[in-house]
Amino acid sequence: GASISVQELANRLKKPAAELIKKLIGLGIMATINQEIDAEVAEIICADYGVEVQVKIEDPEKEILELLEQEDSPEDLVARPCVVTVMGHVDHGKTSLLDAIRQTNVTASEAGGITQHIGAYQVEHNGQKITFLDTPGHEAFTAMRARGAKVTDIAILVVAADDGVMPQTVEAINHAKAANVPIIVAINKMDKPGANPDRVKQELTEHGLLPEEWGGDTICVNVSAKTKQGISDLLEMILLVAEMLELKANPKRLAKGTVIEAKLDKGRGPVATVLVQNGTLQIGDAIVAGTAFGRVRAMTDDKGRQVKKAPPSMPVEVLGLSEVPEAGDVFYAFDDEKKAKQLVQIRLDRKREEELKANSKVSLEDLFARI
Ligand code: GDP
Ligand code: MG
Repeated sequence: GASISVQELANRLKKPAAELIKKLIGLGIMATINQEIDAEVAEIICADYGVEVQVKIEDPEKEILELLEQEDSPEDLVARPCVVTVMGHVDHGKTSLLDAIRQTNVTASEAGGITQHIGAYQVEHNGQKITFLDTPGHEAFTAMRARGAKVTDIAILVVAADDGVMPQTVEAINHAKAANVPIIVAINKMDKPGANPDRVKQELTEHGLLPEEWGGDTICVNVSAKTKQGISDLLEMILLVAEMLELKANPKRLAKGTVIEAKLDKGRGPVATVLVQNGTLQIGDAIVAGTAFGRVRAMTDDKGRQVKKAPPSMPVEVLGLSEVPEAGDVFYAFDDEKKAKQLVQIRLDRKREEELKANSKVSLEDLFARI
C-alpha cells in the first residue's frame, strides 16, 4: 500500500517530526524519523491536525495506461469512418441485412474475397467508408459495454415490417440509449405481403422513438434485405448521421482499439479481429490486449488482403499474439516493448492474486461447511 516517511509527513504538515513521533507513540506505533508509515496511519495523524488527506493509491496499470491515453492535439485530428452495429429481435433480418449491404458494395474484382469473415467489414458509399460490426448483436454489444469499450457510433435497429416491435427490439433500444448511441431504424422485410411499416412506427413511438416524419428525430428507412430495396437509402442516412457526429481520430499516434472477436487457429495460432479506434496499427507494432502480448506479424482486411497499416475505424485480423484475447478487450500498441511486457505482467499478477483470493474463499466456505 501507499506510505510516507515520518520526516516527509512532518515537512508537509509543517510540524516538528518529534511531535508526530509522540502522536504515533500514542497510537502504539514506535516510529523513528525515517520510518515509513502506512497511508491509513498518516491519515489519522493528519486528521489530528485537522488536515484532510487524499491517499493516492498507486496503480501501476493505470500509470501505464495514462501514458498511452494522452490526448490528441486538435490539429492532428482527422475525420474517421463511422462504426455501425446492427441490433434487433431474432429473425428480423440482422444477418440478412448485413449480407445485403456487403453484397451490394462488393465490386466484381473483390467478389472472390466475399467469403472472408472477420467479424467486421467496411463498405464504401458515395466515396465514404462505413464500418459494420458483424458480431452477434446484443451479446457483443453488452460484453463490450461491460468492459467499458465503446465501439459503436451508430446502432441500426432492424424491425421486421410484418412482425413489429418485439422483446429484443425493446432490449436493443434500451442498450443503445444507455450507451448514448444514436439509433437508425431499418424497417425490414418490406417485400412481404404482411408488411405494415406504420404499425412498426406506432409501436416505436410507445418506446420513445418518434419517427422524423411524425415530428420526431428518429430516422426510419424501409428496406428489404431480400430484394435490396432501400439499402442505399439506409447507407445514405448512416452517412448523414455520421456527419453530424463529427467523428475524428489521430492517425499519427500509436493504435488503440478493441478486440471484436478472437480464436485459436490451428495453423496460424491466436487470431484476433480488432477494430482500430485511434491511431494507426502497423506490422511490427508491439501490442497488448488483456493479458495477450505480441508483435503484429501480419494483418488481413475484411476482403482477405494483406495490409501493412490499419488506420482509425478499420477492422483487421491480426496475427502474432501470444494467446487468444477476449472479445471486448481493449488493445494498445506500444513503441516500448518493455512497457508492454510490464503491463501484461501487472495484469497476470493481479489475475493470480484474484484467483488465490477466490480459492481461499472457497476453502473457508468448505471449512465452515464441515464445522
Ligand atoms: P436475424 O436472426 O435477425 O439475423 O435474421 P436473419 O437474417 O437470419 O433472417 C431471418 C429470416 O428472415 C431468414 O429466413 C431470412 O431469409 C428472412 N429475411 C430476412 N430479411 C428478409 C427480407 O427482407 N424479406 C424476406 N422476405 N425475408 C427476409
Ligand atoms: Mg443472425
